[in-house]
Amino acid sequence: MELSLRRSTPTTYVGRVPLGSGHPVVVQSMTNTDTADAAATAAQVAELARAGSEIVRVTVNDPAAARALPEIRARLDDLGIDVPLVGDFHYNGHKLLTEHEGAARTLDKYRINPGNVGPGRRRDENFLTIVEVAKEHGKPVRIGVNWGSLDQALLTRMMDENARRPQPRSAHDVLMEAMIASALLSAELAEEHGLPHDRIVISAKVSEVRDLWEVYRRLAARCDYPLHLGLTEAGMGVKGTVASTAALAPLLAEGIGDTIRVSLTPDPGAPREREVEIAQEVLQALGLRRFAPSVTACPGCGRTTSTLFQEMARDIQAYLKERMPAWKERYPGVEGLKVAVMGCVVNGPGESKHADIGISLPGAGESPRAPVYQDGELVATLQGPTLVSDFNRMLDEYVERRFGAAVASAD
Ligand code: SF4
Repeated sequence: MELSLRRSTPTTYVGRVPLGSGHPVVVQSMTNTDTADAAATAAQVAELARAGSEIVRVTVNDPAAARALPEIRARLDDLGIDVPLVGDFHYNGHKLLTEHEGAARTLDKYRINPGNVGPGRRRDENFLTIVEVAKEHGKPVRIGVNWGSLDQALLTRMMDENARRPQPRSAHDVLMEAMIASALLSAELAEEHGLPHDRIVISAKVSEVRDLWEVYRRLAARCDYPLHLGLTEAGMGVKGTVASTAALAPLLAEGIGDTIRVSLTPDPGAPREREVEIAQEVLQALGLRRFAPSVTACPGCGRTTSTLFQEMARDIQAYLKERMPAWKERYPGVEGLKVAVMGCVVNGPGESKHADIGISLPGAGESPRAPVYQDGELVATLQGPTLVSDFNRMLDEYVERRFGAAVASAD
């Protein structure tokens, strides 16, 4: 299936990272450290950036967090990490950004939630104060609506108007419209007060998959701002991973979404970087980005009667992961490598021939004799206890030959 082009037309720069206008979909993540703890926050930002997060958001909830931002940036600079930082503001962003010039200067984007900027008349005043700071410092803003904190005055007004219609729409439909209205009216207000059109990013997050499709399809049809896409409060583990994938994939395939975040609740003690890994896998599975070699592995079945096949698939995948940081530096394009690790002769040789390099066990009996294919040709049959390490050595040689040539010709 041909993937359609994204609809956003302006390019919005978050630091050095371009969003929208046909640029690759950008992976974002968010820290869960106390931002006031500059050392811990910088360390986590660095981990997320090393895992592949191209923008990292930090919560800025009080003066201590705002004061810590320049130190966080300095620590990252010392580590050679130039990932853009986004400040997440609720309730007091207008105060923090005006009272802490260092925070306003350090951040590469301000996230404003229109439902959480203040009540009544103060709402617009506070919102516009942040817009003024963004103008002064040349920063973009993300107008980030979330249905858990939707502008209640706006929703009530729209519900009342709907009730007076001869044929009222469903409450759910009005809720979806209220989210879109909250985002677009805020963007209009920001532009009226001088924030350039190309410094606005929009998001409208919900926690139900089908609702997310609906709200983003409507948004994409009504504006050309770059869209930040994510299922909010996706949950934990398998549920969070599947829900996020189900939510993001159809929209991305339709060209909707210029930057994504997977809002996964980590298991206690689990690495925060998992959300980055999943976001990358979603983009790679859709063919929108390539981050690492893809491994085609069969699930195994009654023809793989021992754990040898699973161990082989696991060890080869781990080897690729271990080698990638060095390979990425040395071999441009290596992330496009396709590897097959297959369990038996039923699909093994076929998949191996489709891959750049593939290995296939013979299946029944698990006799460890495994043909290896490179570029569709049978080049070796491996056997014995060193089978996996021998295949990994062949992987090294293949990568050097295939992707090292580009380096050599550029030298
Ligand atoms: S390739 Fe062979 S081992 Fe793997 S799932 Fe298919 S039949 Fe089973």
